[in-house]
Amino acid sequence: MDDSARMIGAPLDAALDLAACGIPTLPAHIPAPILGQGLAGCSCGRVACATPASHPMGKLGRRDASTDAQMLCYWWGAGGAWRTANVATVAGHAVEVIELLDYPPHWSEIADWLAAHRAGNGPVLGVDQDTVRFLGSPRRSGRTRSTRLAVGWVRRLARGELVLMPPSRLPGDGEVTWLTGPHMPLPDGKQILEALTQLPPPEELILWAKQHDHAAAG
Ligand SMILES: [Zn+2]
Repeated sequence: MDDSARMIGAPLDAALDLAACGIPTLPAHIPAPILGQGLAGCSCGRVACATPASHPMGKLGRRDASTDAQMLCYWWGAGGAWRTANVATVAGHAVEVIELLDYPPHWSEIADWLAAHRAGNGPVLGVDQDTVRFLGSPRRSGRTRSTRLAVGWVRRLARGELVLMPPSRLPGDGEVTWLTGPHMPLPDGKQILEALTQLPPPEELILWAKQHDHAAAG
C-alpha cells in the first residue's frame, strides 16, 4: 500500500477514537511539496506560511474543535476534500499538553519518575526525536510556563495552542505517533508539569531509577 492509500480513513478513525476519549479535534493543514525542498511546505499554499501543516483548515477556528461524530465524518469523510487533513486538538481545553524538549529519551526511567510523582501512565505523543508531549487533565487557570532543565526544557503549551495528534504528518517526513495512549485516564496536568520540571540530569535519573527499582524489589 502506498502512503496516500494508507492515509485515507486514518484521520477520521483517529478523530472518532479521540472523540470517544473526550478529546475534541478539528482538521488542520498538511505538509505540501516545495520545489527542491521535499514536503517542507503547507497545503494552505502560502509560500511564507508561519505554521506549516499546523493551522486549521478553511475558516475553522480553535473553538470549532468537536467530538460530534457527524461533524467529524463531515470533515474527514471519504468523499471530502479534507479526508487526509491533519488531526489537531487545542491545548488547555480538554487536555493540558506538557512538552519535554531535548531531554535524552530514557523512556522507562522517565515513566518510573512520573509514576513515583503520581503523574504516570497517561497518554504520550512522540513528535520528533527531540520532542515528546504528555497529555494531562487541564486546569482552568495558570500561565504558560517554560522551564530550563539541566538538560533540555519543559514547556506547558499555551491555552489555545493547536496540538497535532496521530496520524498527523509534519513538514519534512515526520509523523506524530502515540508512545502510549490514547485510551487511558489523564493524569493531573499540574502534577506532570511539576514532576518533569524536577527531572534530574539523565545520568542521575538512571541512577535514581536503579535505586527505585531496587527499593521496589526489596
Ligand atoms: Zn499554512
